[in-house]
Amino acid sequence: MSGSIDEVTKDVFVARGTAVNWVILREGDELTLVDGGFPGDLKKVLTSIEEIGHSPSDVRAVLGTHAHVDHIGAFEYFTAELGVPVYMSAIDAYHAQTGDFEQAKPLDLAKRILDPRMLPWLLSISMVGGASHPTLSVVHSLDMGAELDVPGRPVPVSCSGHSSGHTAFHLPGAGVLLAGDALATGHPLSPLKGPQLLPDFFAADADEAVRELDNLAGLDADILVCGHGEPWKGTPADAVDLARSLHDA
Ligand SMILES: [Zn+2]
Repeated sequence: MSGSIDEVTKDVFVARGTAVNWVILREGDELTLVDGGFPGDLKKVLTSIEEIGHSPSDVRAVLGTHAHVDHIGAFEYFTAELGVPVYMSAIDAYHAQTGDFEQAKPLDLAKRILDPRMLPWLLSISMVGGASHPTLSVVHSLDMGAELDVPGRPVPVSCSGHSSGHTAFHLPGAGVLLAGDALATGHPLSPLKGPQLLPDFFAADADEAVRELDNLAGLDADILVCGHGEPWKGTPADAVDLARSLHDA
């Protein structure tokens, strides 16, 4: 995998921003955008859509895995400029509209400033609005567990802990699990590659984040796409086992 966007399987595209991914689902001429990078990644989001031969006006729906600044950066553009509906879990929709994000606090990060990975990462995200709190004007609530009538037919699966309403999206037809930040396969703050949990201080409830992986483990898929790190070939069950054993170690 290299470059800024890859088709991991037919009509499922993964694009890279500032150490964060978003996903584009295609069905015919229409698209669904899942997550939207940092605020400063907006141009990259629009470019990624053009790179697969489409225009932002082809986007019919925007789905958010959770209300953190590195995942909703492009959302207000799609709502305000293009009238595209944004959907998130009810809890994270509330956080996205109030700017009251459940994300790592400056003190959590400051305590770890001696980690040699921390400062370069903080500098890189500060360039793309990593410290900002963008609020969204309108966010619709998702019902969990039922296929959405949007391009790509994703099924929202509740998997909270990273945020109170964190949502993964299962693509049963494509055999893909979009895990958001319930799992990662890499992160600038981690020396590891492959399925893992993000550091506990990123989670609203770290114990819940470990427990709720049960909701993903039984899903039928053979490609895992996370908010951070490269796409990974394997089942959700194997990914959850690997992540839990690393977390326990
Ligand atoms: Zn994230």
